[in-house]
Amino acid sequence: MNLFEKHESAVRSYCRSFPVVFQKARGVELTTTDGKTYLDFLAGAGTLNYGHNHPVLKQALLDYIEQDGLTHGLDMHTAAKARFIETFQRLILTPRQMPGYRMQFTGPTGTNAVEAALKLARKVTGRSGILSFTNGFHGCTLGALSATGNQHHRGAAGTGLGDVSRMPYANYFGQQVDTIAMIDKLLDDPSSGVDKPAAAIVEVVQGEGGLNVASAEWIRQLERLCRKHDMLLIVDDIQAGCGRTGHFFSFEQMGIRPDMITLSKSLSGYGLPFALLLLRENLDQWAPGEHNGTFRGNNHAFITATAALEHFWQDDQFAASVRSKGQRIAEHLQRIIRRHGPDSLKLKGRGMMLGIACPDGELAAAVCRHAFANGLVIETSGAHSEVVKCLCPLIIREEQIDRALHILDAAFAAACAEQATRQVS
Ligand SMILES: *Cc1c(COP(=O)(O)O)cnc(C)c1O
Repeated sequence: MNLFEKHESAVRSYCRSFPVVFQKARGVELTTTDGKTYLDFLAGAGTLNYGHNHPVLKQALLDYIEQDGLTHGLDMHTAAKARFIETFQRLILTPRQMPGYRMQFTGPTGTNAVEAALKLARKVTGRSGILSFTNGFHGCTLGALSATGNQHHRGAAGTGLGDVSRMPYANYFGQQVDTIAMIDKLLDDPSSGVDKPAAAIVEVVQGEGGLNVASAEWIRQLERLCRKHDMLLIVDDIQAGCGRTGHFFSFEQMGIRPDMITLSKSLSGYGLPFALLLLRENLDQWAPGEHNGTFRGNNHAFITATAALEHFWQDDQFAASVRSKGQRIAEHLQRIIRRHGPDSLKLKGRGMMLGIACPDGELAAAVCRHAFANGLVIETSGAHSEVVKCLCPLIIREEQIDRALHILDAAFAAACAEQATRQVS
């Protein structure tokens, strides 16, 4: 039994798939204590869009610490916060014609931003119900967990997870079934048993749920549905945001205007804990301190987040590179599908949030195991952990993409061969 198994809680999870000790990380590469290097296709579950220890972000943070900038300041005004607010407005909201959003710095985890959004929706509307979607993931604290679909996580609540109506996500019943029409009917019918909710919360691409993609049309219809039934629309962009889909927000160019947007994971740019709720001005009905927290607005994260916005988001160049690298990864994945399972494997996702759905979780786990043995850190997602998920840093070089996808191709070959042997014997 090693040190971690002996002393660290059994709740640990990712480390079980990658039983090594990491010591250093730079860009797309992780290095272990015994000097072995891995390509990181997990990237902190989408927290490291700009890679590990990006030199520009690191220097900004080192300078700030050197000058005794505040590390902690509750929610007091700091110069670091002022610069972040100004930069986010100037480089993100203004060019996207998104005026009129207030910024709420919640506790530094994604789930806390979701808690704030749900609480505020309930407070403002005076209604308690929330609509959330099949296979959605919104976090593991009780309020957010109620909106999360995953049974494994829900099972740990140990208490009721109430006031959420689960609705079918886009294509949940296949492409022929219009799930928005279904929800509309349930909300129209005074005897359906679905009470008028305060809000709907949705991921435009479901990260943990298996890279399920909603079309622009479905998202627009969802917004229309929200307006018709007087519900607020909350977009949870914690994983799909910050450039992952090839735009800063996952819903950009879909022509919607969410009432609230949650951001976290890659927002600090450096892997520092940081979460933000964007809310329309008219919804900002909080009393001071009503949703509180000691670590609201991490000042070190303000510094790195500002540096990331200035370095990557001055124009469309970075986002365009994400779109073209996404294409390259998708082509690799298509080739893997053609070679190892044209009938059984399926491409999933959008932008640089891509993966391959396997017929079962066993095959997907075997693929990840073989990939890891050959120097690639990669994980699964989905209801049955059946989707092999490529979530590499967006700053990856094309040569690294090719190298990683070569490892993944070999991993599929090995895992499929193994499975064939098992089925014969
Ligand atoms: C990761 C994630 C969360 C939860 O964030 P934590 O920081 O783990 O609490 C919420 N929503 C989505 C879409 C996520 O991917």
